[in-house]
Amino acid sequence: MKPVGLTDPRTGRWPYAVVQLRQENLRADSYNLVGFQNHLKFGEQARVLRLIPGLENAAFLRYGQIHRNTYIDAPNLLTETLQLRAHPSVLIAGQLSGVEGYTESIASGLLAGRYAAALARGIQPTPAPRVTANGSLTHYITHAESKRFQPANITFDLLPPLEEDLRRRIGDKKDKKERHRIQCDRALAAWDQWLTESAD
Ligand SMILES: Cc1cc2nc3c(=O)[nH]c(=O)nc-3n(C[C@H](O)[C@H](O)[C@H](O)COP(=O)(O)OP(=O)(O)OC[C@H]3O[C@@H](n4cnc5c(N)ncnc54)[C@H](O)[C@@H]3O)c2cc1C
Repeated sequence: MKPVGLTDPRTGRWPYAVVQLRQENLRADSYNLVGFQNHLKFGEQARVLRLIPGLENAAFLRYGQIHRNTYIDAPNLLTETLQLRAHPSVLIAGQLSGVEGYTESIASGLLAGRYAAALARGIQPTPAPRVTANGSLTHYITHAESKRFQPANITFDLLPPLEEDLRRRIGDKKDKKERHRIQCDRALAAWDQWLTESAD
C-alpha cells in the first residue's frame, strides 16, 4: 500500500510501502495480508514475506493465490439494459456481467432490478444515462472490444469527457477537481431525471 500519511515515528519519514494486516479471528492470532495475490511457489512466498520487518517469525496458514473471475462476454452478449441479446428476459448483473468491485456489482444489481421491473410491466427499459457512473460502466462493458474484454471498475475515465472549450477554460492539468465536479453535477442531474422518467 502507499504509505501516505503514515509517518514512521523512528525516522519521521514515510516508508517506501506499508503492509496491511486484517484481523481474521477473535483470538487475534490470524491476520490476512491484504493485496498479496500472487503466483509465487509457496516456499518462495514464505521466504520473501519473512523479509518484511515484523513478519520474520510469521507462520503462514494460507498462501496468496491468483483468483479467476467468472464473467460473460458482455460486449457480444449483453444489451445496455443488461439483457441477454439472445434471451431478453434474462438479465445479468454483478461480477458475472463484467463489472468489478463491490459497489459496481451492487449498482449493476440495482439497475438490473429496475430494468426487470419495467419488463415485467411490459415496458422496454431505458438504459441509465451515459453521463452517469452507472450508465458509463454499462456502456463500457457492452461496447468494449470483446477480444480483450476484462472486468472493469468505474473510473472518471469511463465518463464522457467535458467539451474541449470547457476543458480549456478550466485548465487542462490544473483543475482535475473542478472537471470532476462538473462531471458529477451532470451525472446527478441526469440520474434524477432518468429516475423520474422511469418511475412507476
Ligand atoms: C480476493 C478478492 C478480493 C477482492 N477485493 C475487493 C475489494 O477490496 N473491493 C472491491 O470492491 N471488490 C473486491 N473484490 C471484487 C468483489 O469481490 C466482486 O467484484 C464482487 O463481490 C462481485 O459481487 P457479485 O455479487 O456479482 O458476485 P459474488 O460476490 O461472487 O456473489 C455471487 C454469489 O453467487 C453464488 N453462486 C454461484 N453460483 C451459484 C449457483 N449456481 N447457485 C446459487 N448461487 C450461486 C456464489 O456462492 C456467491 O455467493 C475482490 C475479489 C476477490 C476475489
